[in-house]
Amino acid sequence: MKRSINIHCRKDRKGLRMSYTPTGDGKSLVLQGITICCPYCKEARSLHNMTEEMFLEKVVGDKFFI
Ligand SMILES: [Zn+2]
Repeated sequence: MKRSINIHCRKDRKGLRMSYTPTGDGKSLVLQGITICCPYCKEARSLHNMTEEMFLEKVVGDKFFI
């Protein structure tokens, strides 16, 4: 089962037109080294050493709030 998770800004809750498709490897790092700048609130965010397992625990429905 493959589903893509849409990335949203946790501040204004808007979609960032970015999605993540789980690889199935819970130990793999998600968005490592990638900085996302929200076009609405202009805040830059990134994930550090977040494994796919941790990432999926925080997903609500099909959304992840970064
Ligand atoms: Zn924002």
